[in-house]
Amino acid sequence: MFHTAQWFLRDGFKPQDAGAKRCFILRKEIYLDNSATTKPSAQAIHAAVEMMESCWGNPSSTHAKGDEAAAVLGEARRRVASALSSAPQEIFFTSGGTEANNIAVFGAAAKNAKVGRRIVTTAIEHSSVMDSVGELERRGFEVVRLQPDRFGHISPEAVWEAITSDTILVTMMLVNNEVGSILPVEEAVRAARKNAPRALVHCDCVQAFGKMPVNVNRLGADTVTISAHKIHALKGVGALWKRKGLHLPPLTFGGHQENSFRPGTEAAPLIAAFGAAAAVAGDRGKMTVRTDQVRMLWGAARQMLLKIDGIGINSPEDGSPYILNFSTCCVKAETMLNYLSNRGIYVSGGSACAKGEPSHVIKALNLSHDAADSAIRVSFCADNTSEEVRLLADAVAEGIKTLAHFQSSMPKKRENAEKI
Ligand code: PLP
Repeated sequence: MFHTAQWFLRDGFKPQDAGAKRCFILRKEIYLDNSATTKPSAQAIHAAVEMMESCWGNPSSTHAKGDEAAAVLGEARRRVASALSSAPQEIFFTSGGTEANNIAVFGAAAKNAKVGRRIVTTAIEHSSVMDSVGELERRGFEVVRLQPDRFGHISPEAVWEAITSDTILVTMMLVNNEVGSILPVEEAVRAARKNAPRALVHCDCVQAFGKMPVNVNRLGADTVTISAHKIHALKGVGALWKRKGLHLPPLTFGGHQENSFRPGTEAAPLIAAFGAAAAVAGDRGKMTVRTDQVRMLWGAARQMLLKIDGIGINSPEDGSPYILNFSTCCVKAETMLNYLSNRGIYVSGGSACAKGEPSHVIKALNLSHDAADSAIRVSFCADNTSEEVRLLADAVAEGIKTLAHFQSSMPKKRENAEKI
């Protein structure tokens, strides 16, 4: 994918072995885990390096070195704001999506604590929302978690029913990070404005930003989270968009930066890189080209995987084309991930897969035990190719042949794909 060949070590190779060179084989990496993180773009890297080499002043300093850093920060803010069709004053840089979600959820609860205790969310939010809401529940808030259908859809009717007059916060992601389903956020906003006018609506747009148009005014939420490393910028930076005029209590104190809402010296190199990547991510023409390419890859991958006996697709057909989740139904996800990784193919198995447990999202889909245990997420970017998709499908088929009979807990004869 990146046109750079990678050197892989043969099994059992030790660096101190004599004749080390002969132990290497040449193989190309295939990166299909773009929802976990993306490769930083040349523009993003250039912007960060420029800041570190020449423009390394503190943006708060009142001399020329500070002014030039502040100017770059301002330009990055304008670029991120423009990508969301918003105003620069509404953008607050954070350390990433996790922090932005925490600020929005705890801020809204603190602001509305005297109004009511009811929070409406879904059972398939990212852990940074799910665990924040869980903490609020321990502190006495009532939490309603909307359950998805088999493909991660949340029903608009359920949203209207759940958002009652005592609701103080609705927090719903736009695109689910594990299966790619698109959630009815605009419907949730309409329900909140009608049934619970004092409720705040937060939307985690981390997996939507740069992949589908995100116009904060059209979306209608009060706060929106985005993260830089999902759009080919760097890790450790993100932003909270906060509607103009909305006051939320900050979570941290100790400086005037970000309008005292998120104090602390700004990560200027990361923010500059974020701005550079956001200019590309938010360009509607480029977005269409990227999404067309990714949609073609999604369709090809789905078709090829469905030809493999027993494989079932867990992603909806009307979801984001950037994410394709499937179950082999016969090889545990972590075993398949290792198998693919040893062949230079990088995918993912759901957030909690490393612990050998299906994630809360996969559990919420109510799949069969085998389907949940073997769920794999493939996530694309526009640099991926059809050839990579073919190599993935071949490797999965080969992996099933090699590994399935070792998995005694899983049935030899697998069910039909659509039944899982
Ligand atoms: N929200 C969603 C939907 C995500 O997918 C992620 C990261 O995977 C986050 C939030 C957290 O973002 P960050 O890694 O920038 O903290």
